[in-house]
Amino acid sequence: MKNMGNSIKNFLFLLKPIWKYGKCYSILSVLIAVVLTPISSLCNVLFTQNIVDAVASEKSYQSVLQIICQYLLIQLLVSTVQSIYDIFYNERASFKIEQKMKDEIYQCILRTDYEYFDDPSFYNNYTWAVNEYIGKAYEAKSLFINLISSVAIVITMSSTILLLGPWILVITIIEILINTYMQSKQNKVNLEKRETNIPIERRLGYVHQAFSNRANAADIRTTKVKDILYEIYDENTTKKSDNITRFSKRIFSYSYPRSFIGIIYNGLILGYISYGIIISKKIDGVGKFTSLLSANTQLVNALSNVFNLFTIVDNLSLYAEKIKGFFTIESKIENQEGGCVSSDSAFSLAINNLSFSYSNSCFGLKNINMTISAGEKVAIVGVNGSGKTTFMKLLLRLYDPTEGDILYNGISIKEYNLKKLRSKVGIAFQSINVYATTLSRNLQLYNHLPEDQLLKNMEKVELLDVLQKNGSTLNTELTRNFSADGIMLSTGEKQKLGIARIMAQDFGLLLLDEPSATLDPISEYKLAKLIFDTANRTTSIIISHRLSMIRNADRIYVMNDGSIIENGTHEELLALKGLYYDMFTKQSEGFME
Ligand code: ADP
Repeated sequence: MKNMGNSIKNFLFLLKPIWKYGKCYSILSVLIAVVLTPISSLCNVLFTQNIVDAVASEKSYQSVLQIICQYLLIQLLVSTVQSIYDIFYNERASFKIEQKMKDEIYQCILRTDYEYFDDPSFYNNYTWAVNEYIGKAYEAKSLFINLISSVAIVITMSSTILLLGPWILVITIIEILINTYMQSKQNKVNLEKRETNIPIERRLGYVHQAFSNRANAADIRTTKVKDILYEIYDENTTKKSDNITRFSKRIFSYSYPRSFIGIIYNGLILGYISYGIIISKKIDGVGKFTSLLSANTQLVNALSNVFNLFTIVDNLSLYAEKIKGFFTIESKIENQEGGCVSSDSAFSLAINNLSFSYSNSCFGLKNINMTISAGEKVAIVGVNGSGKTTFMKLLLRLYDPTEGDILYNGISIKEYNLKKLRSKVGIAFQSINVYATTLSRNLQLYNHLPEDQLLKNMEKVELLDVLQKNGSTLNTELTRNFSADGIMLSTGEKQKLGIARIMAQDFGLLLLDEPSATLDPISEYKLAKLIFDTANRTTSIIISHRLSMIRNADRIYVMNDGSIIENGTHEELLALKGLYYDMFTKQSEGFME
């Protein structure tokens, strides 16, 4: 009972957005379901009876035609209302509701803390909910409409059939109860089958995607990866085929008795109605015979619908639980509305006893202290995995520290209006995301700029040849997702795009994480200067392995296993003969050789 209550609550949860964003749409859908559909069903039954009776009693052709015309007129009326509703209202109203629901999803994504994206179970549920929310809400709506229209049909048809006596209803209800019971068993087996197949299908989907993914095209042609993919494919097709055999037997054990009982039931009804006409004479006229049969068929369908819908509500409830989980996730960072707004000038930073650890890893940043004056250029170096990028993420408040604090201009990062603060931090990371839209939009992630300024910035980072090479303009799309002649950027070109982006405005702070790592040495040499020119206008923190990028920094911090182990100028650190000295001399030796 508690379960049922919960299922209904979840069902209402799915219906809520449709009602909230489309009250008129919901009311009209219900009206059509309870008025139009039963009228149409009742007409079918009554007019069939009248027409057959008129023909059987050899009425004039004209009077038969008159009945047919009345029947057609009502059907035409019903179908006109239905068509006008479907074509001119339904699609437009559903589209508006969908838009609002999508907006709800996007707003929820924006409010969700970054840390949740590290948790695979959250992420699975999250992508799932994002994909299913609208579909399941509409499924719930159809189910609800189906339910009330079926109930309306059951009421109309039962009153017609009751003329025959209660027996026919009793037999029908017994048949439907047995059928629904068997159907629910069969549904359970189907569900089990689907669940068993999910991991198999995910792997098959992975192979399918791996074969068609452009990024794998070279590997597939040159390495043994195709054999490995085929092995995964064969393994899983065998498993799936075994599943089909295994489950077929169980499904048959429910579906066959259902068909058998259905046939017996049809026989009983035919026999009963014929008995009423021939023997007991309770039913008179062939018309009544056909109309009763038709009414009974509609009653059976509508009743089975009502019973089946209850089993579907249960199923929808499981989906609703997951979707609820997505919308009610508690975010501590993105939800906070700090009121403090930073000034437009370069930031000063104080990092006090900062510690942080990921919830799903042993790695942590340990007791980091730094004081960075406004306009200073700071570099962070360290081996892979030492925590440099994690530190940058804390500076963007993608995570909150477990201990300590970050102060911008003497005020804790937690006091700031995060949106406004982040708009003053320019970022160029090693892996630059490009978006399937125009080059111009891709260049304006921070600020709107006139075309000539965008072209100037592209020229500075030597990206103009991309336009010349492709015969493209600023309005050409990046990627080929939607445009056959979209611009495909190389990794180095993407990195140049990332640098062009941060030329859009002056920032309070620049965070550069290996901004030139994938550039060729000549481009790097030229762009390092440009990056430094940009960095000179503000406070900047640069992570780099290229010592040529960092030797001009005002202060260099060396990070190892989450701690700062050395700091000083390039010369001071060399004199220290520690990790920095080792890294620098190794790199110089590499160049000497
Ligand atoms: P670096 O930038 O110095 O190469 P990172 O800050 O990226 O290092 O990573 C430091 C350590 O934190 C690595 O061992 C990495 O595996 C771990 N790490 C990074 N991101 C996450 C995460 N989202 N969840 C758990 N561990 C992470």
